[in-house]
Amino acid sequence: MPRPKRARAAQVAPTPQEGPALRIAMIASECVPFAKTGGLADVVGSLPKALRALGHDVIVIMPLYGMINRERYTIRPFLAPMGVWMGDTEEWCAVHTTTVDGVPVFFIDSDKYFARPGLYHDADYNDYLDNPRRFGFLTRAGLQLCIDMGFRPDIVHAHDWQTALAAAYLKIWHWNHPVLGGAASVLTIHNIAYQGVYDASHYPYLGLQWGNFTSDKFEDHGRINFLKGGIQYSDMLNTVSPTYANETRTPEGGHGLAMYLNDRGSAYRGILNGVDYTQWNPETDPLIPARYSASNLAGKAICKRELQLRMGLDPNPDIPIVGVVSRLAHQKGLDLLAGAIEGLVQNALVQFAVLGAGDKGLEGYYSLLPLRFPGKIGSFIGYDNQLSHWIEAGSDFFAMPSRYEPCGLNQMYSLRYGTLPIVRATGGLEDTVQQYNEHTGAGTGFKFYEPSVHAVYYTIGWAISTYFDRPHHMQQMIQMAMAQDFSWERSAKEYVQLYREAIARKRGM
Ligand code: ADP
Repeated sequence: MPRPKRARAAQVAPTPQEGPALRIAMIASECVPFAKTGGLADVVGSLPKALRALGHDVIVIMPLYGMINRERYTIRPFLAPMGVWMGDTEEWCAVHTTTVDGVPVFFIDSDKYFARPGLYHDADYNDYLDNPRRFGFLTRAGLQLCIDMGFRPDIVHAHDWQTALAAAYLKIWHWNHPVLGGAASVLTIHNIAYQGVYDASHYPYLGLQWGNFTSDKFEDHGRINFLKGGIQYSDMLNTVSPTYANETRTPEGGHGLAMYLNDRGSAYRGILNGVDYTQWNPETDPLIPARYSASNLAGKAICKRELQLRMGLDPNPDIPIVGVVSRLAHQKGLDLLAGAIEGLVQNALVQFAVLGAGDKGLEGYYSLLPLRFPGKIGSFIGYDNQLSHWIEAGSDFFAMPSRYEPCGLNQMYSLRYGTLPIVRATGGLEDTVQQYNEHTGAGTGFKFYEPSVHAVYYTIGWAISTYFDRPHHMQQMIQMAMAQDFSWERSAKEYVQLYREAIARKRGM
């Protein structure tokens, strides 16, 4: 395929906005619909669309993993070969492209690094040993692609440790480059527990210069820490909710990086993720048994009955259902729920519908519960998008007892589906759920503070008693919950503000 001289991302028609339209290059390791392991992929799939709708010119750059279906997404060759300097080594790759909802997506095609079934690990959950090289390469290749196709970004937006080095490369190598010299950098931290800490033997390959291997930049107890370097070099940075931004500034929540985040002062903040309401809206959702709205909830009763039948629960419309859709990981607190669930179904009229996968011990525990408590607990171990929609629509409550939750999406889905969240007041859960007031009936859910079995038990008990004893409050809360708006447009405007501040910092304004 001939090398295009100055290929440009699709032009977008400018719409009225504050300030000039921006050119943004987003480099990330995951993006919906191509490859997803978590909320990061949802953000990288949705934010560019919302920015485009505001009149900005956005491209996304990600790996062409072996599992991505090229035919399904009409992914076609764009440029080959492309040389990328890593330390003293020139690596070669190709670039492919497609367009999703008007947003050009470019895929870095490297047999050496990405032609594997998994994103980060093999089928046995063993991390690929060359992950630091794979994602260091992705990041440099993303910048090289901007150069080769003459895309002069105002902003390079990196996500998590995988592409956190983008800011460092811009400042160390491209500070006066004709294409990249004007680019300011933004880093979004989706989960600070994952920092990309690797043996220092990878450092020369990454081409970051030994002079920068210091404890205030990349060095972390003799190893290299990608995220730490990103925090130091990015012009602006954010995480995915205001409360999580505060939590990560503390020794407990910062996983060793609190000091460095605090050093960045007002350059670090929280911006809530949005919800893709084209996918998650009970009025239009094609995946659920019946559609419904805040003004007509009849369809929700049908969804509840169908969910009960599908999950082997007693088909009784008067028993509340608590839904769970989650990775079964320590972070999500499903071990806390495990300590409370048996007592709850024995002592109260309540049913549970659980969907999840992950920790083998928890998978085993939750998979046996339907046999031990038939008709009261239904569970499915695995990943099932359709069932996740059914649980959101058919449940009365939705439990998220997370130990920490950078933003969380399911509680926002639950609100829109009139399914009241029962959450630990942490991170984005604290920011998006309003505590029930038993005197006035105001609020959108039930919150607890202590990460303990007791707190889970009594807060779910509180929700159940509200269901039976104060049904008028339930109705009031459902209306308030369904009226909440966490659209991407609102979040995208905050990102634009962040971008403009990054540009101002970069230019010393
Ligand atoms: P995290 O990214 O930490 O896993 P989020 O709440 O931000 O948590 O996003 C999780 C996303 O993955 C949601 O869209 C949720 O519906 C989905 N999800 C999680 N587990 C499952 C599962 N077992 N089956 C289907 N969808 C799931």
